[in-house]
Amino acid sequence: MTSSSYKSVPPVLRKVHILAVGLALLIATFSLILVEYATLKSSLSDKLQVQMQIVASNITQTLDAGKHKSIENVLSSLSAAPEIDAVALYGLQQERIAHYVRNGQLPDMAAKSPVTELTVNTNLLNAEIWQPVMEKGHQRAVLYARANLKQLYRNLLWYIGTTIMVMLVTLYAAASLLSRLQRAVLQAEERAGFLTNYDTVTHLLNRYAFNQRFQTLLDEAQQKSSVLALLVFDLDDFKVVNDTLGHDVGDMLLRVVAQRMVATGNLDHVIYRVGGDEFAMILEKSEEVENIHAIANRFIEALAAPIAINDRNLYVGVSIGASLYPYDGEDAAHLLRDADAAMYYAKSRGKNNFQMFSVEMHHKSSNRLTLESEMRVALEQGQFELHYQPQIALPSQKLIGVEALIRWNHPQRGVLMPSNFIPIAEEVGLIVPIGQWVLREACQQAMAWKAAGIEGLRMSVNLSGRQFRQESLVNGVTQIIEETHMDTDLLELEITETVLMEDAETTITRLKELKAMGIHLSIDDFGTGYSSMAYLKRFPVSRLKIDRSFIRDIPLDADDVAITTATIQMAHSLKLEVVAEGVENQVQLQFLCAQGCDIAQGFLFSQPVDRHAMTEIAKARET
Ligand code: C2E
Ligand code: MG
Ligand code: MG
Repeated sequence: MTSSSYKSVPPVLRKVHILAVGLALLIATFSLILVEYATLKSSLSDKLQVQMQIVASNITQTLDAGKHKSIENVLSSLSAAPEIDAVALYGLQQERIAHYVRNGQLPDMAAKSPVTELTVNTNLLNAEIWQPVMEKGHQRAVLYARANLKQLYRNLLWYIGTTIMVMLVTLYAAASLLSRLQRAVLQAEERAGFLTNYDTVTHLLNRYAFNQRFQTLLDEAQQKSSVLALLVFDLDDFKVVNDTLGHDVGDMLLRVVAQRMVATGNLDHVIYRVGGDEFAMILEKSEEVENIHAIANRFIEALAAPIAINDRNLYVGVSIGASLYPYDGEDAAHLLRDADAAMYYAKSRGKNNFQMFSVEMHHKSSNRLTLESEMRVALEQGQFELHYQPQIALPSQKLIGVEALIRWNHPQRGVLMPSNFIPIAEEVGLIVPIGQWVLREACQQAMAWKAAGIEGLRMSVNLSGRQFRQESLVNGVTQIIEETHMDTDLLELEITETVLMEDAETTITRLKELKAMGIHLSIDDFGTGYSSMAYLKRFPVSRLKIDRSFIRDIPLDADDVAITTATIQMAHSLKLEVVAEGVENQVQLQFLCAQGCDIAQGFLFSQPVDRHAMTEIAKARET
């Protein structure tokens, strides 16, 4: 499928078009010249007749008087007309009375029968005229004149010259117009062909071309009873790049990725761009299908290297899924669905890896789809609920706040925990409306508690990565705060360490905007990402939450003890409060108190509970 196949007018045919125009012009020119020749000739004979009539009327009187000399004078006056070669006047006995000759001979009148009527003869060189001279109805004599056609040919030549010039100019104009038109048509055809088959951003073949090719290869494989492998590639963090750095950078990134993929494959490996950040490749040879792991890993390695765009190093990575014909499916739709399922499985396995399709994946992927549509219904029908987990100040053990944690009261599957649906909501974008619901509900609850006399209870709300990167985040938060009349001093937003570090400079700006509204900010799951001290110092956050995994094995695990101790000291030196997550027992609590940890949260104090239970806990603690 090369672009040349779109050239529907072959060059030979284009030449034929121009030749046809030329031939038509030539015939037209030739006919014009013939018509002009005939016209010139007839006007010459007309002119000759008029001249002869004038002469005849001038000489009738002198004829009687026998003044031959004066007749000759009249005849020779015709010498003023350059085409007249000879003139003569003959009597009725064919005797010559007078003549004038400039060129050639006079005709032999003896051989000629008497002339009684006007006769005009023309050949290629001359025009001859015999004109009877009449007086009162009787013929008196015969006038003869011969004119050469030199002037006529000169005029004709001039006419031919001009006509040919005009014809050539017309031909040239027609040829260039024709070729310009053809070029425009050709370009339009090529462009249409390109758009149908190619992706305009990466210039790779597109989904349409992929579908066509895949079907052809499947038909061939069926006939030959051979195998095929379909690989589906999905970039891991492309959405992050698009959301945070804009679509231009996104497009540049896609182009580099496409180039890298083409360079990584060999000539048989045609790469198709089949969706936003999705690519596909078909392996046709059985030895390649056997080597599929090695081939896929080559692509993973190639895309793992950073991509430099606008002085930034971007890391994308790719998750690859594959399905095999005829083992995983017999038709294109099944094979695509299976390769997609394998690709999603690869993503769930920590991204940047390759998975072959298996039947279990099919269940998982159809689960995903069901879950997505069920989540939309859940939002509409109010199936989500917030639970609250107390946060306790150390060492006083005073209740100072709660963390809002979402639960889904699924009509068939019972209560679902966030790990069962938040990652999918994040992936498909539903996290944004869900997050707005959470924030609104949490703010309303905080204000309800305040109104009920439970003072100073801070409400911590989790923000997911996708929510935090939304351009409209600050506006959305402002709107909910206004709607719920939330006291911003009572609101804390938790953002995970990994999300904060993704694009630290943008993070700082965004955090500053939220901070300016009076909102408190904390770093969630601290210790699981790779924070740079330089940035930690610059983030306008007030709390750092040590991840549960570091608290769990305290005091038995020496590493966790060391990390927790160091984190508390480091946080204090940065003037940050420390919250320990997942505190389950007294030993952990004592250790944390001894290290000067500011706040604790965990099952030791309470599991996350619904708002009624939380209200009870709060009231009980106050008294
Ligand atoms: P997280 O923000 O780190 O929340 C703390 C998680 O630790 C909660 O899990 C909580 O139930 C659990 N936890 C608290 N104390 C203990 C303990 O002593 N032992 C043990 N084993 N676990 C404890 P949960 O509710 O399942 O939430 C899991 C994660 O889901 C949260 O981690 C948070 O990242 C996310 N999440 C929850 N609600 C929301 C939400 O409304 N929006 C967003 N974006 N994410 C949410
Ligand atoms: Mg949290
Ligand atoms: Mg946490």
